Amino acid sequence: MRVPEQYARAGRLAREMREWIQQNVKPPQPCLEIAEKVEAEIVRRGGQPAFPTGIGINGVTAHYSPQEGDLTTTSESDLVKIDYGVHFDGYVADTAVTMSENADHQLMIETTKRALEAAIAVAKRDPRTGEIGRAIEETARREGFKTINNLSGHTLEQYVVHAGKSIPNVYAPNQPVLRRDDVFAIEPFLTRGTAAGYVVDDPSGSRPTIYSLTMRKRTGAEELDRLVEAIWDRRKSLPFTPRWFSGQFGRERLLKLLAELERRRIVRGYPTLVEASGAPVAQFEHTMKLEGSSLVILT
Ligand code: MN
Ligand code: MN
Repeated sequence: MRVPEQYARAGRLAREMREWIQQNVKPPQPCLEIAEKVEAEIVRRGGQPAFPTGIGINGVTAHYSPQEGDLTTTSESDLVKIDYGVHFDGYVADTAVTMSENADHQLMIETTKRALEAAIAVAKRDPRTGEIGRAIEETARREGFKTINNLSGHTLEQYVVHAGKSIPNVYAPNQPVLRRDDVFAIEPFLTRGTAAGYVVDDPSGSRPTIYSLTMRKRTGAEELDRLVEAIWDRRKSLPFTPRWFSGQFGRERLLKLLAELERRRIVRGYPTLVEASGAPVAQFEHTMKLEGSSLVILT
């Protein structure tokens, strides 16, 4: 099976967006504005966001997308991760960059970028995901950094961002092996050598900002069904953020409806993940495909 053309298109647009981000994202800037502009620019260029734009400041590591009323602004001392994705017909290109104007963060950012390069070099010749993890871990350790050991890369399938196989950021035996035609993302996360080296659900107990539909099911309640259909129409099983539906339902009402759908397990929330000791975390990510014996970087 050849790469659906949509994967190549999604990858190309994600690559163009990286340039756009490098030119347009500069501190100080409200995080909400960054997320909205990234998503609007993807749409303006003919694509769709594959998931809500993740903005991770310092120790905020994954699954945070700013909501209305979030006044957080980036500053020159911050480390800022932008994790974004593009899809065409559910074929997803998932990618992430880290930036900072703070000299203290540069070595960690550079090392994370090199860890991704080392991981890609291994993936080209050895499809064992444990070996990819080893390359990431060793690159980090050589410079005195730690990897986040409970976050990993993943395979992708149509309308599924996290499909069956994980690609760890540490060496582990007996991990899955990548196969011909697998599309997958590798995403090293590095933190300080003195940090905990793993993420936990945001202990402030904030509500998730990212959700996805787990099933398209009738509830018997008119308003809930209307929300499920609105999500299905726009997202199928791809992740969404309340921000995208609050115009239609009103923010307060929407959050109540989502909580009810979550309780019924029709919708799943992804809690914000933060580094357990609060240390800053850097991330780079590419989506790629094994085509026969060659590895094609899509993003
Ligand atoms: Mn990502
Ligand atoms: Mn990913």
